[in-house]
Amino acid sequence: MSLERETMGVMPPISVGSGPLDPRSQLIQEMRDQNFDLIRFASYRTACKLRFVQKKCNLHAIDIWNVIEAFRENALNTLEPTACVNVTRLETLVSSLYHNLNKRLPPANQVSVEVCSALLLNWLLSAFSTGENVGKIRVFSIKVALATMCAGKLMDKLRYIFSQLSDGNGHLLMKRLSDYLREVLALPAAVYESPSFSYNDNLAMAIFNQNVKITVNDFLDTLMSDPGPPCLVWLPLLHRLASVENVVHPLACSVCRRGSLTGFRYRCTRCAAYTLCQDCFWRGHVSPPHSNDHEVKEYATYKSPSKQIGATLRKSFRCVPERARPVLPRYPDQPERTLNLSHIVPPSPVPAHNGFPEYTGYNTGSLDSRSSRSTHRSTYFIYRVTGELLSILEDVIFDDHI
Ligand SMILES: [Zn+2]
Ligand SMILES: [Zn+2]
Repeated sequence: MSLERETMGVMPPISVGSGPLDPRSQLIQEMRDQNFDLIRFASYRTACKLRFVQKKCNLHAIDIWNVIEAFRENALNTLEPTACVNVTRLETLVSSLYHNLNKRLPPANQVSVEVCSALLLNWLLSAFSTGENVGKIRVFSIKVALATMCAGKLMDKLRYIFSQLSDGNGHLLMKRLSDYLREVLALPAAVYESPSFSYNDNLAMAIFNQNVKITVNDFLDTLMSDPGPPCLVWLPLLHRLASVENVVHPLACSVCRRGSLTGFRYRCTRCAAYTLCQDCFWRGHVSPPHSNDHEVKEYATYKSPSKQIGATLRKSFRCVPERARPVLPRYPDQPERTLNLSHIVPPSPVPAHNGFPEYTGYNTGSLDSRSSRSTHRSTYFIYRVTGELLSILEDVIFDDHI
């Protein structure tokens, strides 16, 4: 595996006064306690820190579709990307995410809307509401931050992002790509990783040729490739980190001797049967005869030796064809026409407070509560019932800004 820049982004110490820490300082303090700064690789370090923030804010329980729905419900989709909203409006949006999450969760697993909202709100403001923009935040910043930090497939998130960056013909606008890179790179900066991943005006042109028309498929091919753009290597890693978190490898680490490794596992290509857990490998811990100069392979799954022998035999006997390399799905290059769903989904109620709907237990403006009081079931009805319905709604949602 390749090693990237070693520049360290070290979290500053938190000055502990006599009173309790504010939510953001508390978050940073807890992140420091995880010792992520000892991770040698900038991409893994950044991904680990962002995963930590994501879980602390319970964003790992909120899917990209829930986020897009919240943008619509709070009328952010009708605002220009450059428009700014004030803290009150951001607070309403953020708390609506958690109110809606609680509607989907069983009573025993409810989250504290107040605590989660305060944490996320403070973190977003520290990342984006700086300099001249103190006290307000751009709509585009909110969209990029939440679409990146929520749960869901990277492919779905990037399709949504592309819908925000493309013109009416479905072609990427380079200026908006630059805007996107500036916003998305504020996330590593918010966890003190700007020395490794920072924005500059040449990044967009280093990724795409500005003289070529870039479609959604070109965009996905480039951003989902391995390795992708260097400034964004932490992004697919954040998603891989989440997907391997519960993978168990029934092997012991050759350094710390911990058994049943979870997450990524590493194996030296030179030393026989030399296995490293992710904590030892990321932090450079070794034991003889292994050294950090040796090449290692990363594993995200575990196959028992009997399965491996079976696979080797099948390959040698050519009983089964070789598995084809996974291919990314293709999407229509042209944006599809927006469907009018007004006969299916009643319009939102008139905004009541500061041009913004108030929260009253059940939010009557939510897609969930429109179709049923039982929001858990209705979410499934809206988004999960059939692939066909899902794709229709996706198109409507993606096209909404155009
Ligand atoms: Zn170990
Ligand atoms: Zn070795």
